[in-house]
Amino acid sequence: MASDRLAFIIGASRGIGSAAALRLARDGFNIAASCRGDTSRLDGLRSQLEAMGRTFLPVSLDVTDREASIRTVTELFGERPPFAVVYNAGISKDDLFAWMSSREWDDVVRTGLDGFYNCVQPLIQPMMSQRCGRIIAISSASGQVGRPGQVNYSAAKAGLIGAVKALAGELGKRGILVNAVAPGVIDTEMTRDLDMTKILPLIPLGRKGTPEEVAAVISFLAGPYSDYVTGQVIGVNGGLVC
Ligand code: NDP
Repeated sequence: MASDRLAFIIGASRGIGSAAALRLARDGFNIAASCRGDTSRLDGLRSQLEAMGRTFLPVSLDVTDREASIRTVTELFGERPPFAVVYNAGISKDDLFAWMSSREWDDVVRTGLDGFYNCVQPLIQPMMSQRCGRIIAISSASGQVGRPGQVNYSAAKAGLIGAVKALAGELGKRGILVNAVAPGVIDTEMTRDLDMTKILPLIPLGRKGTPEEVAAVISFLAGPYSDYVTGQVIGVNGGLVC
């Protein structure tokens, strides 16, 4: 792959996003990556990417801030959009719906779903002009099946799946492929406090996945072997959801 191709990973400070940045760099992409607040939080990632000979553009982005996100993304990429965009930002605030606060609902939906509009929509027209590209949204097994205690998170992640399928239909003729990855239980900060004794028996492969295993599927969707794959949801879940 030409090494002048750029991948933009939204939410790359740690976990799956950071692993995706490293994997895509290994695949030959130059990398733009975002975190909230001070971009010095991405210094560790920067040194690894630069050691691999890739260029690195750190971006400060709170995906819930619509105005700032649209402005930042447009200023950075309005003229020259990335080839691949990975929408990875997401949070969970679990509670039974009966007790769920409006804050818990809003924070999760604004980050997981509204942020997709705020950060990806401004890239669509520039990407359409290029007549090529990949959009990859990180959904969740919870969005595929709906998990009790995660009505907000399941709604946001299912919303992303709907958005990806509709957008794939809009952009196919422009040569832009749009897909979702739906991880199961992956070993990151997000799942650090889960009681795995109840969850492991539900996973046929009997373990959590690694961020690198999710990044491998992101790499496939961003790379040359997925040229006829669009509008799909690819599970990375050890068999948790079939
Ligand atoms: P982490 O909590 O480790 O990372 C989440 C990332 O999202 C961080 O980079 C974080 O940045 C970013 N983020 C959160 N809120 C915002 C915001 N308002 N603006 C910008 N960035 C934000 O989680 P994972 O790596 O585990 O998860 C990555 C994605 O995968 C998420 O979308 C998650 O929902 C999804 N997923 C994870 C699963 C798992 O088991 N781990 C399972 C299924 C899906 P910051 O450092 O600034 O907070």
